[in-house]
Amino acid sequence: MANNSTIEWTEATWNPTTGCDRVSVGCDNCYALTLAKRLKAMGAEKYQNDGDPRTSGPGFGVTVHPQALSIPFSWRQPRLVSVNSMSDLFHARVPLDFVRQVFAVMAATPQHTYQVLTKRAARLQKVADQLDWPDNVWMGVSVENSEVLDRIDDLRHVPATVRFLSCEPLLGPLDDIDLDGIHWVIAGGESGSGHRPLDPDWVIHLRNACQEARVPFFFKQWGGRTPKAGGRTLEGLIWDEMPVRGLATA
Ligand code: SF4
Repeated sequence: MANNSTIEWTEATWNPTTGCDRVSVGCDNCYALTLAKRLKAMGAEKYQNDGDPRTSGPGFGVTVHPQALSIPFSWRQPRLVSVNSMSDLFHARVPLDFVRQVFAVMAATPQHTYQVLTKRAARLQKVADQLDWPDNVWMGVSVENSEVLDRIDDLRHVPATVRFLSCEPLLGPLDDIDLDGIHWVIAGGESGSGHRPLDPDWVIHLRNACQEARVPFFFKQWGGRTPKAGGRTLEGLIWDEMPVRGLATA
C-alpha cells in the first residue's frame, strides 16, 4: 500500500510484508484479508501468493517484499507511517533477518515516525533484544479483549521509545488492564457489515484507566456500518491525546 492512508491517525502506510493468518477474535473481520482477495483479483503484484484457507485466504499468504524497503527513502516530508497495515511484521514466517532490514530502514529515515502494530507479542518479545530500536519507532500490540492482556506484558519488555496499545476493535471489557510502562492507548469500535457492537462502558472504563495512569488516550470511532457511522464523541468530547515523547521525534 502506498500513501494517503484513510487510517485517521497516520499519514501513510508502508507494507514491506503482506499477508497474515488469523490468530484471535480480533482478526475475525480482518479488512486486510478481504482487501487482499480483491487486490489479487485485480492482478496486484504483491497479492498473488495465497494463504492457508483455514486461517488466511487468496492473495494473503505471508510474503516479504525486499523491493518495498526503499519506499520511505523517497518520502521527503516527514510522515507518520503505519507499518504493515496488510500484514503482521512479527508473523513467524517473516524471517528475523528481514525484520532487521525493516528496522534498519526505519533507523535510516529518522524524519519519519513509524507505528508498528502486532498481535504476535510473544515473538516480538522474543526477538526484541536482537533488534536496534531507533527513537522514531513506536511499537504497539492489539488488545481486543481480556483474553489477550498478556500481550501487554510482552510489550512492556520491548525497549521502544513509545509502547502503545491498539484496543480496536474493542470486543470486551478490559477491567484488569495494567498500563504500567505503556505510553499511549488507542480504542475504537469495529466497522463493516459484520461489525460487533462496542459497549460504551468498556470505552469509559479504559479512558478512566488511562487518566488514572496518566497515559494519553485516543478514541478513533464507535464504528458501525461505516467507520464514521457512529461518530467519535465520548461523553461529549473528542479524545485525540497523543504520546508527547514520540511526537517530539517526528
Ligand atoms: S493479525 Fe492483523 S493482519 Fe493478521 S489476520 Fe489478524 S487482523 Fe488481519
